[in-house]
Amino acid sequence: MADSNFIDYVKILCRSGKGGAGSRHFYRAKYVPKGGPDGGDGGRGGHIILKGNAHMWTLLPLKYRRHIFAGNGQSGSGGRSFGKDGEDVVVEVPCGTVVFDAETGEFLCEVTYDGQEVKLLRGGRGGLGNWHFKSATNRTPRYAQPGEPAIEKSIILELKVLADVGLVGFPNAGKSTLLSAVSAARPKIADYPFTTMEPQLGIVSYRDNRSFVMADIPGIIEGASEGKGLGLRFLRHIERNAVLLFMIPADADDIAAEYKILVNELKQFNPQLLDKHRILAISKSDMLDDELIEAVRETLPDDIPYVFISAVTGQGITELKDVLWRAITDDDNRLATPDITHRALDQSHRVREEDEFIFQYQPGEQDEDDEGEDLQNISADTWGDDYDVDGDDYMWDEDVEPDENEPRKDDK
Ligand code: GDP
Ligand code: MG
Repeated sequence: MADSNFIDYVKILCRSGKGGAGSRHFYRAKYVPKGGPDGGDGGRGGHIILKGNAHMWTLLPLKYRRHIFAGNGQSGSGGRSFGKDGEDVVVEVPCGTVVFDAETGEFLCEVTYDGQEVKLLRGGRGGLGNWHFKSATNRTPRYAQPGEPAIEKSIILELKVLADVGLVGFPNAGKSTLLSAVSAARPKIADYPFTTMEPQLGIVSYRDNRSFVMADIPGIIEGASEGKGLGLRFLRHIERNAVLLFMIPADADDIAAEYKILVNELKQFNPQLLDKHRILAISKSDMLDDELIEAVRETLPDDIPYVFISAVTGQGITELKDVLWRAITDDDNRLATPDITHRALDQSHRVREEDEFIFQYQPGEQDEDDEGEDLQNISADTWGDDYDVDGDDYMWDEDVEPDENEPRKDDK
């Protein structure tokens, strides 16, 4: 089977640029004795910036990007010349991308709307050149600031699909069938579980030219919040939906019990999910006659509005759209949605998904290609000696020997 184009999880090593070193330089010219310090400032290191792009649907373009490195700032030089700033890297991501620290699992930031720019890693500031440090008591400052070091972070980008309505239900509940009945989306439909392996979005047109987005999220099973079945992988998409539409087929043994399991799975994953509006659709109602519908009605949970629907005959679909639209546009709900706290990734989550990650770390791999080693060294020499290696234009007063013990950085 061809690889899926829907990628909602990538791990990338990012590094901002380090700041350029300030220059230590003294003006020298014929007939100008004691020209004074004139070392310029180092340039700023490049930032790593994430930018929302509404035309992107997946993280696929980032799947094969192992590293994202911004440019380093250049050192300052004599004549108070500034070093050039390092180049920023702007990484375009789909709206709904959430960023976590890969080491700790901690939530870092999220990008939610088109054009939004989030500074993920700040480039190091450039060091000040030595002319900043001249004073009445020190007219030949022989030090300049080094540039700030780069910041290196391994990050995980997760895409949480932004849809107004998320379908929640066990496999086979009829979710894909409903989505294809109300929108132009064509998800795979079959009577075996997990035919839907990736979230499908469909635009549902409503009356008066209005529309909303519905997402078919792969089936939940009991224990999904602990990683069973497709598990957590898809539960996270539900976090961004404004309204949750629970779907339970009319032929289920105990609708109230199934509903309880679904609610419990969501609660285990993120209790805030329960703040969202919930609506229950009893699907496949074409299998019931009026008498049976009355009988089923008796057994329904009483804390949730419900609609009997059939995606096949169209029964109840208009009513369902009305109920959904009212819930989506409800002010209380609208306010609650953006505030969701993205739960930090936990260990089991990361380990399991890294199995699928293409560039997974293999013990021993490091020996063959020593790239891993290089990466470790990078952080060590960011504070290295290069601030005082200003090349040829670096001059000392002949009679003064450089003092090794002099502080490198002026903390003024
Ligand atoms: P999903 O796993 O929740 O996406 O479920 P599917 O949409 O793939 O549907 C599972 C099975 O239920 C398929 O065989 C569908 O034909 C059947 N089904 C879905 N909706 C209806 C309905 O409204 N009426 C009837 N009779 N069968 C349905
Ligand atoms: Mg399906």
